Amino acid sequence: MLSVRDLTLFYGDAQALDGVGFDIGEGEIVAIVGANGAGKTSLIRAVAGMERPAGGTIRFRGADIAGWPPHRICNTGIGQVAEGRQIFPSLSVMENLQMGAMLPRARKRFRQSLDEVIALFPRLEERRDQAAGTLSGGEQQMLAIGRCLMGRPELILFDEPSLGLAPTIVADVFRIIRRLHEGGMSIVLVEQNVSASLRLSSRAYVLENGRVVAEGASAELANDPRIRQAYLGL
Ligand code: ATP
Repeated sequence: MLSVRDLTLFYGDAQALDGVGFDIGEGEIVAIVGANGAGKTSLIRAVAGMERPAGGTIRFRGADIAGWPPHRICNTGIGQVAEGRQIFPSLSVMENLQMGAMLPRARKRFRQSLDEVIALFPRLEERRDQAAGTLSGGEQQMLAIGRCLMGRPELILFDEPSLGLAPTIVADVFRIIRRLHEGGMSIVLVEQNVSASLRLSSRAYVLENGRVVAEGASAELANDPRIRQAYLGL
C-alpha cells in the first residue's frame, strides 16, 4: 500500500532522514521505534507532505506522492494524527470535525463519517458545542482521531498518540487504534511507549540517526536483547 525508498530529508544543513525505506501492506499496523531525535516525526511529516524530502520515493497505491502538498496527499487517503493533537482550540467540537471533512474525498460522505465517529466516540456528541480547547487531554486526543477519520483515510499516521495522557486514557487510545485496525485501517504508529507499540503492531522498524537499523516482526524485536536494552529499559 505504502512503499518508501531512499528517503532523505534535511533541515538546512542538518540531515534528519538518510536513505529510509519502509513498507506497509493493506490493513497492517507498523510501528516506528527510535530514540528522541532519531527522525520518527520527520518521517511521518515527510509522508504526510508537511516536509519536503530532498530525495527518494513515497509510493502510495502506485503514485509517487513525495513532495506533494499535504491537502493532495490527504485527499488520496492518508490521514495524520499529529503529535500534540493540533486541534483548533477556539472552534467547537463539531466545527473541528467539519474541518476534517473539507476535502473532496470526504465532503460528500460527511453524514456517514459523522455517524461513524460518534459511534466510536459518543463523548464528542455530548460535547459537540463546547470549545475544543476546554476538553480534557483525552477528549482532545479522541477529537484529533475523530477529525482525522472525518477525512475518510485508508492509512493513518499516528505520531505519539499517548503523549501526555493519563494511563487509563492511554489504554483507551490504544484500544481505539486496535479497533480501527480490526476494521481494516492501515496504520503507522510512532509511539514513545515502545512496548505497547510493539504489542499493537505486526511489524516494526527501528530508526537511529535518520536510518533504519533494524526491522522485523514486532514480537521478535520485542525479544531482541539490543532492543530490550535500548528501548524497553530491560
Ligand atoms: P522525538 O521523539 O524527539 O520527536 P523524532 O525521532 O521524532 O524525535 P525528529 O523530530 O524527526 O525525531 O528529529 C530528527 C532530527 O531532526 C533531530 O536531530 C531534530 O533535532 C531535527 N529536527 C527536527 N525538526 C527540525 C526542524 N524543524 N528544524 C531543524 N531541525 C529539526
